[in-house]
Amino acid sequence: KRSDKFKQLEQSDVDYFRTVLTSNNIVHDETSNPENSTMTPYNTDFFNLHRGASKLCLFPTETSQVSKILKYCNDQKLAVVPQGGNTGVSGGQNPLFDEIIVNMSKMNKIRSFNDISGIAVVDAGVVLESLDNYVAPLGYTVPLDLGAKGSCQLGGNVSTNAGGLRLMKFGSLHGSVLGLEVVLPDGTVMDNLSTLRKDNTGYDLKQLFIGAEGTLGLITGVSIMTPRKPTSVNIAMLALESFDDVQKAFVMAKEDLSEILSGFEFWDRESMELVKRVMLTDKDFPIEANTKFYALLETQGSRQEHDQEKIDTYLTRLMETNVAQDGVMAQDEKQTTALWQWRERIPEAIVQSGTAMTYDVAMDVQLLYKLVEDVKQHYSERGLLDKVYKNVIGFGHVGDGNLHIMANIPDHDYSVQKDMDKFVYDWTIKHNGSITAEHGIGVAKVNYMTRCKTDVQIRLMQSIKNAIDPNGIMNPYKVVPGVL
Ligand code: FAD
Repeated sequence: KRSDKFKQLEQSDVDYFRTVLTSNNIVHDETSNPENSTMTPYNTDFFNLHRGASKLCLFPTETSQVSKILKYCNDQKLAVVPQGGNTGVSGGQNPLFDEIIVNMSKMNKIRSFNDISGIAVVDAGVVLESLDNYVAPLGYTVPLDLGAKGSCQLGGNVSTNAGGLRLMKFGSLHGSVLGLEVVLPDGTVMDNLSTLRKDNTGYDLKQLFIGAEGTLGLITGVSIMTPRKPTSVNIAMLALESFDDVQKAFVMAKEDLSEILSGFEFWDRESMELVKRVMLTDKDFPIEANTKFYALLETQGSRQEHDQEKIDTYLTRLMETNVAQDGVMAQDEKQTTALWQWRERIPEAIVQSGTAMTYDVAMDVQLLYKLVEDVKQHYSERGLLDKVYKNVIGFGHVGDGNLHIMANIPDHDYSVQKDMDKFVYDWTIKHNGSITAEHGIGVAKVNYMTRCKTDVQIRLMQSIKNAIDPNGIMNPYKVVPGVL
């Protein structure tokens, strides 16, 4: 239910924003029909699961404008939703009702890059892939990589504490981000844009905003450490008969490849068949063995012969011990991209097949695929698998104990969504897992927070939210329960 404490947008508010931003940086549309509203792309998410009814989207180009916008909204009690590349998966970046959207895509300058330390300072709206393209010729790379890299922004990545395909090697953004510039809800700018690797002067305030999903302030600048671009990258795809074999192959990869192992991903046969059906073809798939699971491992190093020797030993051991049924290694960059796409395009393939539910749970690696099997069994027993829950697939980051489970459901059938949420989250909580390993709480999981955190943790979160955002204007209804 919309909270009455927030003011409804009036023409005088729009007139004020027109004094802060030029007209090409404002989208204002009172049309309520989503079919022909220019606001629809901002009100709706990538997966088409969340839809708000905002009438105003603002595109600031500099920090001082963000400051004026938030100060005005705070004074007027207008609710605000920060939006980056709008690739988020928990509905955090879309309004629930009529909140004003502040979209960061026009704050997209690289402010500085230090080619000795590899530290980049960027506007929050810089697209992840653009930063990678910028630092690559200088011999560096970004420490995170995700399927949405062509659209998601650094500010969105930081706000969701995005994980992705390289977390296993480079760790989370809590380590790679060195500083932030944040506009607080009352318009004050917190300049914590440090470029220091080590700084123990009191509370590490930036950490509060990493993963806060826009509920504490609007990030306008990010200082991030970029690692050296590896000169030797190798990718191998494996065919495996059971999830036990996936785990064995993972442990053997840690043993044989140790310091060069940078990623270990898996997916099930159903994911592979879906990608084949929707986007690629049978003949594009590089492995003949029709096994129940596939895995993709990546190594990053600095000397090809050394890495190649290690991988050869590993692959031979996998075949000799019958852990893998088949395996293929990319021979060049083209083949590397071709292999990666079988993993990276899975979410896109299921979205193209219809409305898709997506989950990102974390748990002991041994349990990862048991959840997919139990979901399937649960809905089969009720006669709903294939009728309502279609294309139930499992894939994810074995190296981080993070499973993605996805399924197609009827368009905008919230009762079906709720039912699957309940099954997946109850199961995960029962098995001491986390209901979100990387996508965040957003609006989708806020009702489960009190079951995932202790009373003490919830009270602390509420105190922090109330201290920084006493009017509750920043991304209301999300993440922290019981603060409205
Ligand atoms: P948005 O979606 O626009 O926003 C996400 C949240 O951050 C919202 O709560 C929003 O309010 C807040 N926010 C955005 N910008 C700011 C800002 N400047 N200041 C304050 N708050 C802000 N995620 C992973 O972690 N790992 C993956 O492997 C992964 N793969 C994906 C693959 C696909 C195909 C897709 C569509 C998504 C994937 N995601 C993944 C999810 C998503 O890409 C990440 O959550 C990403 O970090 C979101 O960035 P964004 O710029 O799109 O943010």
